[in-house]
Amino acid sequence: MKPLIKTLFVPLFLLVLAWQLLQSIEQLTGGYQKLFVQLPYVLVVMGLILANQFNRSRTFAALLALAGSYWAIQAFMQASLTQALPLFAFSSISVLLPLTVLVLLIAPERGLWNRFGLPLALVAPVCLLGAALVFNFFPGFHHPLADYFSVKPLAGYVLSVGGSVLFAGVFSLGAWLAVKRPHDIEMALVFVLVAVFIALAWLHRPFISTVMISAASLCLVIDLIRSSYSMAYRDDLTGLLGRRALNEKLRGLGKKYVIAMLDVDHFKKFNDTHGHDVGDDVLKMVAAQIGKVEGGGIPYRYGGEEFAVIFPRKDLENCLPHLEAVRSGIEHYKIALRDKKNRPSDKQQGSQQRGKKASPRLVSVTISIGVAARHENLDIPEEVIKAADKALYKSKQKGRNCVSH
Ligand code: GH3
Ligand code: MG
Ligand code: MG
Repeated sequence: MKPLIKTLFVPLFLLVLAWQLLQSIEQLTGGYQKLFVQLPYVLVVMGLILANQFNRSRTFAALLALAGSYWAIQAFMQASLTQALPLFAFSSISVLLPLTVLVLLIAPERGLWNRFGLPLALVAPVCLLGAALVFNFFPGFHHPLADYFSVKPLAGYVLSVGGSVLFAGVFSLGAWLAVKRPHDIEMALVFVLVAVFIALAWLHRPFISTVMISAASLCLVIDLIRSSYSMAYRDDLTGLLGRRALNEKLRGLGKKYVIAMLDVDHFKKFNDTHGHDVGDDVLKMVAAQIGKVEGGGIPYRYGGEEFAVIFPRKDLENCLPHLEAVRSGIEHYKIALRDKKNRPSDKQQGSQQRGKKASPRLVSVTISIGVAARHENLDIPEEVIKAADKALYKSKQKGRNCVSH
């Protein structure tokens, strides 16, 4: 799991950048200013192309919501908010955008061009159309909205109290989700919310919407590019770096390094006994334990039930205790089986049994490890891997569940 600070870095950097841009934008000449106003659309189109490529409905929908809000701000809100149309557009965005972000935060990602993704992508266009129809056919409708969402509660702050509360509520939920799942799109959605909030609350500042909507679109684009790295380099089942990342690492290693190869013992038999699903769970547990390796080791899933750990700039002697710790950690880890076969069918009987807390069946696995270090006669990474593989074979010969070099 990525530390929160890493996912916070991009949004915070974009906020500082946006603030800097806002200070200098007024110094641009008129022609450049006009060009700058188009920037959010350019970034949104870029993002839409990428979101389509990566099949991401939530990013696609968030970008459309940003584009729609920006268009409404530029088209209708460059006049005083005391007029009916600007006030209606402003109130609509301050309600609809946080609600859209709320839906996107809750909705699971199931791809774009299907019956799950398309409704999400249509949220923003439908909201825009709906708002336009309401204003056209019920021009009086803005009065109740304006009662709850009347603007300018404070000097220099435009957003209504109702709108502010709504933004704060969705922000709290989004922040909670972003802390819980800090490797996902949640942080980018929270940033979208914050950016639009700033744009609405300080709407009277020139170019604030252009700068903030650009920053939000850029945040979504960066999130997509970052997740494409994950898709290419991380293994889906275990979350560890995969073979492609390992091969790249091997090319850049210096003159001193150690490579360890790790292999689960008798795993074929384990699969045959407990089933492939339990096998997958065990592989996740094994990967999580290997992921905790200390001493500067970088863990990879080499393929199947085989893993590799690279220790750059380390001696063999330094690495052995850390590998021994991983081996021992896996040996002593007990996995509770989700025993589907023995699950009681009758509800009452089931609750009685649960009341007794029938102890689950516990299983465990072991791993064998082979280690090799680079030296003068063994200076090609592929050769070091071969040597580590030989050492692994030695461990298997010795009876498994041990480290050899
Ligand atoms: P040894 O102790 O000699 O390593 O025996 P082994 O049975 O582990 O060795 P072998 O290489 O013959 O078998 C590896 C097995 O790992 C075969 C395959 O069923 C299983 N396996 C490989 N990848 C996965 C996976 O992603 N999920 C599951 N559940 N099993 C996998
Ligand atoms: Mg194997
Ligand atoms: Mg094996």
